[in-house]
Amino acid sequence: MSHVMNTYARLPVAFERGEGAWLWDTQGRRYLDALAGIAVCGVGHSHPRLTAALREQAGRLVHTSNLYGITLQEQLADRLAAISGMEGVFFCNSGCEANEAAIKLARYYGHQKGIEAPAIVVMEKAFHGRTIATLSATGSRKVQAGFEPLVAGFVRVPFDDLDAVKRVAENNRGVVAVMVELIQGEGGINICHADYLNGLREICDAHGWLLVLDEVQSGMGRTGTWFAFQHSRVNPDIMTLAKGLGNGVPIGACLARGPAAKLFKPGSHGSTFGGNPFACAAALATLAIIEEEGLMKNAAEMGDFLRAGFQTRLAGNAGVKEVRGQGLMIGIELAHACNDLVQQALDAGLLINVTVDTVVRLLPPLNFTREQCEMLVDTLAPLILDFLSRQTAPHFAAQSA
Ligand SMILES: *Cc1c(COP(=O)(O)O)cnc(C)c1O
Repeated sequence: MSHVMNTYARLPVAFERGEGAWLWDTQGRRYLDALAGIAVCGVGHSHPRLTAALREQAGRLVHTSNLYGITLQEQLADRLAAISGMEGVFFCNSGCEANEAAIKLARYYGHQKGIEAPAIVVMEKAFHGRTIATLSATGSRKVQAGFEPLVAGFVRVPFDDLDAVKRVAENNRGVVAVMVELIQGEGGINICHADYLNGLREICDAHGWLLVLDEVQSGMGRTGTWFAFQHSRVNPDIMTLAKGLGNGVPIGACLARGPAAKLFKPGSHGSTFGGNPFACAAALATLAIIEEEGLMKNAAEMGDFLRAGFQTRLAGNAGVKEVRGQGLMIGIELAHACNDLVQQALDAGLLINVTVDTVVRLLPPLNFTREQCEMLVDTLAPLILDFLSRQTAPHFAAQSA
């Protein structure tokens, strides 16, 4: 019996080696990776420049603690500020921790304004993590069930519904922030209307709320810009990052702009590992590779190419509800629960994911090539069509509360 706790439904494969978008399992079989460790390995596996930077830093200094100055942390904060327009950065080790910092920051902001029980508006189908506060912010009963009591101080509204947020503004006095993923990842690659972010910014400005964007999955070049909000002219007050930031070396960040950037004081928040020299060297190298190899442009182009490819190959099939996404954050929604497709793709040498039972999710590395895009479409489209040909009644997705 395994001594690892049984928290994951793991596929029957283990990988030993990777190169770019390719992985080799313990039997030496090769797989095309269209998931990149769930939007983590944006520059691909074993990128030579990242490997060299990690080797170099591991031989120099790995950890000292935040009791002392950390030059690489300063440099990384400068870089992140320069590409995001944000002003202050708190470093941690994961997405949920970045969101914990954002939630603490929003509450702290509320208390400074004399609000004793600050509340944060969150969305249906949102995913913000699995710590007690972030699972409370998450809009999925699956994530919450069995872990009650939930943390108080969250008001839930439907995603992409400005009127619902306006109603909260009219009826709730203690709201201090809105927290949202611009493209919901775990929730099914759900996209919002072009004016949604603008509308949220206006509501936040009108009521003195902070606009908190969870870019843990959508950030770091995945949608074709450094951050998904950069497709608009709107700036957030707080933004959280993790997944692609260190290409697999654990690092998360909570960035803030304006009043929120200067709220935390020594003792307000902290992390033992957060922003250590090794993690920061990984993130600095990852940022440099994304920028210098033009990977954001590639993500935008390959994303368009992939969506068009799937749209063409799946056109006219009633079992395909929608092909959607931005850059290399792609969802193919089917009318049936399609979790079985993951194993079928694996058998065909392809790594994909299915989320909320009905959405095939693709998050390939940002340096995915045109040839790899063609292989992905050529392998997956027939699997989807074959799968759909074997289905009878349409699947009615269980609503998450
Ligand atoms: C993955 C994810 C998280 C949680 O990140 P962890 O590193 O697993 O804690 C939070 N928000 C979003 C949008 C995510 O995709």
